[in-house]
Amino acid sequence: MSNITIVGSVALDSVRTPLGEVTEALGGSATHASMSASFFSPVNLVGVVGTDFPEAHVELFRSRKVNLEGLQRVEGKTFRWKGYYDHDLNTAHTLLTDLNVFADFHPRLPESYVSSDYLFLGNIDPELQSLVLDQIAKPKLVVCDTMNFWITGKRAALIETLKRVDIVLLNEGEARQLCETNNLLKAARRVLELGPKAVIIKKGEDGAMLVQDNGHIFISPTYPIEEVADPTGAGDSFAGGFLGYLAYTDDLSNENIRRAIIVGSVMASFNVEMFSCDRLRTLSHDEILKRYNILRKMSGFEKLSADTFEPAFA
Ligand code: AMP
Repeated sequence: MSNITIVGSVALDSVRTPLGEVTEALGGSATHASMSASFFSPVNLVGVVGTDFPEAHVELFRSRKVNLEGLQRVEGKTFRWKGYYDHDLNTAHTLLTDLNVFADFHPRLPESYVSSDYLFLGNIDPELQSLVLDQIAKPKLVVCDTMNFWITGKRAALIETLKRVDIVLLNEGEARQLCETNNLLKAARRVLELGPKAVIIKKGEDGAMLVQDNGHIFISPTYPIEEVADPTGAGDSFAGGFLGYLAYTDDLSNENIRRAIIVGSVMASFNVEMFSCDRLRTLSHDEILKRYNILRKMSGFEKLSADTFEPAFA
């Protein structure tokens, strides 16, 4: 089992969805990813919060054994994000992004993080993502996420970061925006031309698509949820489950990467059942295992063989 270092935002989120709303709840890319990954592997978190960050949130990380040595607490206000979702739960509408303490953040990797084998560069300023890459020794795998805010605002810096990572995670809107094409397969190929070995394009309720530079493509399903309370953090909990499982198994074969994608998908499906990361507070390994195997049954199908394929309609 290997350690994962996760850098990203630690936030206070105010979110409205068709099923309700929360004000200043625990959020952020590093938060959702760390909470999710902590079900599989030891997590080192890198981020920053202000003096207003509630102690109860720190306790939650501690209860999941997340290493907080790399979480800086500085004078000022914690990063805040405010957004809402309409009935299309795949699209977050941002009302406010208050970088606050993130505006002057200089990530510093504690000595104990430097030899981490697995690194997740969560959604954060791509210049900061690069600064973290400069400090880590020789990770086996670097996975990177981003969002429209940085694709628009820091495109050149983002492209420089992407050149240095192994796997890029994008949702479909971000992939179209970054690659300037509507076709997701074309978008994936354009990302691969920048240098990464693989790209995973997340399509919310419609699953995810992995495209590797060795030509492999994998289409992953999403576990269907009847009542999605809050999709915030789905992408990050997917990333946390994906990377957490890879670090736990320490196996980067094609088959295991596929398993890890399904684990990611399962973790995201739990995270959206409640606001913030509340569902993960009570989640058990047994529930994760059960849902993984249900998803496997739901999406498995038999090979169609030329010997028996004789449709009546010519
Ligand atoms: P997602 O997994 O894509 O739904 O990510 C949701 C999280 O991203 C929220 O909890 C927000 O706090 C965080 N977030 C929103 N905007 C930004 C931003 N510009 N930089 C870093 N984190 C952000």
